[in-house]
Amino acid sequence: MSEQTLFHKIRDKKIPATIVYEDDEVLAFKDIHPKAHTHLLFIAKKDSDFVASIDDLTEATAHVPGLLIRKAQSFAKAHSITGYQLKFHVGKDGGQEVFYLHLHFLSEQKIG
Ligand code: AMP
Repeated sequence: MSEQTLFHKIRDKKIPATIVYEDDEVLAFKDIHPKAHTHLLFIAKKDSDFVASIDDLTEATAHVPGLLIRKAQSFAKAHSITGYQLKFHVGKDGGQEVFYLHLHFLSEQKIG
Protein backbone atom coordinates (compact mmCIF):
# COMPACT_ATOMS: atom_id res chain seq x y z
CA MET A 1 0.00 0.00 0.00
CA SER A 2 1.29 3.44 -0.85
CA GLU A 3 2.04 6.04 1.82
CA GLN A 4 -0.89 8.23 2.90
CA THR A 5 -0.17 11.81 1.90
CA LEU A 6 -1.78 15.06 3.01
CA PHE A 7 -4.05 14.91 -0.03
CA HIS A 8 -5.24 11.39 0.86
CA LYS A 9 -6.36 12.91 4.18
CA ILE A 10 -8.13 15.79 2.40
CA ARG A 11 -9.75 13.32 -0.02
CA ASP A 12 -10.94 11.16 2.90
CA LYS A 13 -12.16 14.26 4.82
CA LYS A 14 -9.79 13.51 7.69
CA ILE A 15 -8.44 17.04 7.50
CA PRO A 16 -10.47 20.04 6.36
CA ALA A 17 -10.16 21.84 3.05
CA THR A 18 -12.33 24.29 1.17
CA ILE A 19 -13.82 21.98 -1.42
CA VAL A 20 -15.11 23.75 -4.51
CA TYR A 21 -15.97 20.72 -6.67
CA GLU A 22 -16.42 16.99 -6.17
CA ASP A 23 -17.74 14.08 -8.20
CA ASP A 24 -17.04 10.34 -8.26
CA GLU A 25 -13.67 10.80 -9.95
CA VAL A 26 -12.22 14.13 -8.88
CA LEU A 27 -11.99 16.52 -5.94
CA ALA A 28 -11.01 20.18 -6.22
CA PHE A 29 -10.15 22.39 -3.28
CA LYS A 30 -8.59 25.78 -2.59
CA ASP A 31 -4.83 25.95 -2.18
CA ILE A 32 -4.06 27.04 1.37
CA HIS A 33 -1.31 29.42 0.14
CA PRO A 34 -2.89 30.91 -3.00
CA LYS A 35 -0.57 32.24 -5.69
CA ALA A 36 -3.45 33.76 -7.69
CA HIS A 37 -6.87 35.13 -6.85
CA THR A 38 -8.31 31.71 -7.60
CA HIS A 39 -5.84 28.92 -6.85
CA LEU A 40 -7.33 25.43 -6.81
CA LEU A 41 -5.89 21.93 -6.72
CA PHE A 42 -7.54 19.07 -8.64
CA ILE A 43 -6.89 15.48 -7.55
CA ALA A 44 -8.21 12.10 -8.73
CA LYS A 45 -10.12 10.27 -5.98
CA LYS A 46 -10.01 6.59 -6.92
CA ASP A 47 -7.25 4.47 -5.40
CA SER A 48 -6.78 2.89 -8.84
CA ASP A 49 -6.03 6.39 -10.23
CA PHE A 50 -3.45 7.18 -7.54
CA VAL A 51 -0.07 8.24 -8.82
CA ALA A 52 2.46 10.24 -6.84
CA SER A 53 3.79 12.41 -9.63
CA ILE A 54 3.86 12.87 -13.41
CA ASP A 55 7.28 11.25 -13.12
CA ASP A 56 5.62 8.02 -11.92
CA LEU A 57 2.94 7.69 -14.61
CA THR A 58 2.43 4.22 -16.09
CA GLU A 59 0.11 2.89 -18.80
CA ALA A 60 -2.43 2.25 -16.02
CA THR A 61 -2.41 5.86 -14.83
CA ALA A 62 -1.61 7.71 -18.08
CA HIS A 63 -5.25 8.89 -18.34
CA VAL A 64 -5.17 10.72 -14.99
CA PRO A 65 -3.58 14.03 -16.11
CA GLY A 66 -6.17 14.25 -18.90
CA LEU A 67 -8.97 13.55 -16.43
CA LEU A 68 -7.79 16.38 -14.17
CA ILE A 69 -7.42 18.78 -17.12
CA ARG A 70 -10.88 17.92 -18.44
CA LYS A 71 -12.47 18.52 -15.02
CA ALA A 72 -10.59 21.80 -14.64
CA GLN A 73 -11.84 22.88 -18.08
CA SER A 74 -15.45 22.02 -17.14
CA PHE A 75 -15.06 23.83 -13.83
CA ALA A 76 -13.78 26.95 -15.60
CA LYS A 77 -16.68 26.93 -18.05
CA ALA A 78 -19.20 26.40 -15.25
CA HIS A 79 -17.79 29.40 -13.39
CA SER A 80 -17.33 31.63 -16.46
CA ILE A 81 -13.56 31.73 -15.98
CA THR A 82 -12.16 32.55 -19.41
CA GLY A 83 -8.44 32.65 -18.59
CA TYR A 84 -6.40 30.39 -16.37
CA GLN A 85 -3.14 28.49 -15.96
CA LEU A 86 -2.78 24.75 -15.36
CA LYS A 87 0.44 23.43 -13.82
CA PHE A 88 1.95 20.20 -12.60
CA HIS A 89 5.02 20.47 -10.40
CA VAL A 90 7.14 17.42 -11.12
CA GLY A 91 9.55 16.10 -8.53
CA LYS A 92 11.24 17.88 -5.66
CA ASP A 93 13.48 19.71 -8.12
CA GLY A 94 10.34 20.89 -9.93
CA GLY A 95 8.86 22.34 -6.75
CA GLN A 96 6.60 19.40 -5.91
CA GLU A 97 5.92 19.12 -2.17
CA VAL A 98 2.95 16.74 -2.01
CA PHE A 99 3.43 13.40 -3.72
CA TYR A 100 -0.19 12.83 -4.74
CA LEU A 101 -0.62 13.99 -8.33
CA HIS A 102 -2.45 17.31 -8.41
CA LEU A 103 -3.19 19.92 -11.03
CA HIS A 104 -2.78 23.56 -10.02
CA PHE A 105 -5.53 25.80 -11.45
CA LEU A 106 -4.63 29.49 -11.25
CA SER A 107 -6.68 32.45 -12.39
CA GLU A 108 -6.95 36.12 -11.56
CA GLN A 109 -10.69 35.77 -12.21
CA LYS A 110 -13.05 34.94 -9.36
CA ILE A 111 -15.19 31.84 -9.06
CA GLY A 112 -18.60 33.13 -10.14
P1 AMP B 1 3.12 21.19 -5.00
O1 AMP B 1 4.23 22.15 -4.71
O2 AMP B 1 2.80 21.11 -6.46
O3 AMP B 1 3.33 19.84 -4.35
O4 AMP B 1 1.83 21.84 -4.37
C1 AMP B 1 1.34 21.54 -3.11
C2 AMP B 1 0.36 22.64 -2.79
O5 AMP B 1 -0.43 22.23 -1.69
C3 AMP B 1 1.02 23.97 -2.38
O6 AMP B 1 0.64 24.99 -3.31
C4 AMP B 1 0.47 24.22 -0.98
O7 AMP B 1 0.20 25.59 -0.74
C5 AMP B 1 -0.77 23.36 -0.96
N1 AMP B 1 -1.20 22.92 0.37
C6 AMP B 1 -0.41 22.46 1.38
N2 AMP B 1 -1.17 22.10 2.44
C7 AMP B 1 -2.47 22.34 2.08
C8 AMP B 1 -3.73 22.16 2.74
N3 AMP B 1 -3.81 21.68 3.98
N4 AMP B 1 -4.84 22.52 2.07
C9 AMP B 1 -4.77 23.03 0.82
N5 AMP B 1 -3.62 23.20 0.14
C10 AMP B 1 -2.48 22.86 0.77
